[in-house]
Amino acid sequence: ATPTAIMAAIGNATKHGFLVREGDALERLAKVSKITFDKTGTLTYGTPKVTAVKSVSAYSEDEIYSYAASAEHMSEHPIGKAIVRCYGQKTVACKDFKMSLGEGVTATVNGKVVKAGNLKLMEGVTISKELANAAGKYLNEGSTITYVVIDDVLAGYIVLSDTVREESKDMIAALGKIDVHPVLLTGDNKNAAETIASQLGISEVYANCLPEDKLNYIGKYQDGGYSVCMIGDGINDAPALKKAYVGIAMGGVGSDIAVDAADIALVNDEIKELPHLLSLSKRMMTTIK
Ligand code: ADP
Ligand code: MG
Repeated sequence: ATPTAIMAAIGNATKHGFLVREGDALERLAKVSKITFDKTGTLTYGTPKVTAVKSVSAYSEDEIYSYAASAEHMSEHPIGKAIVRCYGQKTVACKDFKMSLGEGVTATVNGKVVKAGNLKLMEGVTISKELANAAGKYLNEGSTITYVVIDDVLAGYIVLSDTVREESKDMIAALGKIDVHPVLLTGDNKNAAETIASQLGISEVYANCLPEDKLNYIGKYQDGGYSVCMIGDGINDAPALKKAYVGIAMGGVGSDIAVDAADIALVNDEIKELPHLLSLSKRMMTTIK
């Protein structure tokens, strides 16, 4: 591509909300035939709401909510932030805060060790059949469950529900028209992942992904000859954003770590602009010959 064509394309991309951080990112994007999407914060708004708090112990629902919100107080994850925001009351200071990527958090609150997260964080904790059934009902609706353990006792769980971005479905359809294949890579559970994928018309889905799993799926595609574009917002997406031929970070909801790892930042999170960017990059390469 001539410098003039590249400058013009970068200018156009900027008008559509894309901050091109690497000079050759658009030239690389022109070769992309697969896009791997993160779910939470990327295809969804990433600001879930707490829809239920349930106790399975002697702890009341209020106590469970309060312990969980206190433990999540320093969390940067959309789920942690949602629990704190929806709880809406004063939290108790916590100690020994520890974040486990793709799992949840552990912290000491009122002298008790509190864990809030998914099943991976609950290693060694027994989940009864009744509980699994009750939780399954929520999971089938596409909700996410955060289990709360207090001093090794499974106290209860918090149900959260996120909303798909209004633009996501049309955006995925538009990608199909320019022969770019979408894939969903998410750290969330299989039910939530599949519910959202089928709503959006994405047929290739990988759930329960740790950061290195996202990276490995992208590596496999690239070994198979695909040029992959990854789009995500979280700290957990950073390795995948680096590994992909082109990485795009959500610049609004996204964490700084994701933006730093990416070649392009989508400043206002307007994901509907993605097909335009791909077409633009392809046009840029054809006009130059
Ligand atoms: P995604 O790929 O959908 O953005 P993440 O990898 O960030 O998801 O997180 C994967 C899963 O890890 C979440 O769906 C949630 O179950 C759990 N998780 C991560 N951080 C937290 C947290 N602070 N509190 C509760 N659960 C968490
Ligand atoms: Mg995310």
